[in-house]
Amino acid sequence: MPSNRIVYQNWIVELGRDPALPPVDEGESERGKIVEEAVETALKALSDNEREFIQRFHYMGQTYREISEATGRTIHRLEALHRRATKRLRKELAPLVRGLYGVAGDSAPDCIVCRSDHRREIDRLIAHRNKTATWRPVIREIRERFGLRITTPQTLIGHEKYHIGR
Ligand SMILES: [Zn+2]
Repeated sequence: MPSNRIVYQNWIVELGRDPALPPVDEGESERGKIVEEAVETALKALSDNEREFIQRFHYMGQTYREISEATGRTIHRLEALHRRATKRLRKELAPLVRGLYGVAGDSAPDCIVCRSDHRREIDRLIAHRNKTATWRPVIREIRERFGLRITTPQTLIGHEKYHIGR
């Protein structure tokens, strides 16, 4: 398997690195090595089919059509493989992405608050809430001001614990 650093950097972008972050500096090659090893390890968590797809698509640069012809799988099936493999890799690599770049990795896309355009305001609301009261007034305010359908305090508790400040 070729260990091209560019390939691995693309990986990180795809796996949740914030493209708005400044480019990596002199520690870059050190990080490249860490990422490379982590990706190698993460690939082992995939099924053989998923890993083969990822290797062909990301490392060998083959197109869906080429992979389809080489493996006899339909494009539709390849798309499903790709989705599953990416999801699993993102999960496997989330701690690394968090550690290296301080972004939420796999957790952000699933969190309704993190996805919201009003995240900053909501974070502020959460930070300044009355900690002796229940979450209910906060939930109500978020619903009324930002139209966010939060159904359980666990959403906000999880967001506060794992996402705020990341
Ligand atoms: Zn969140």
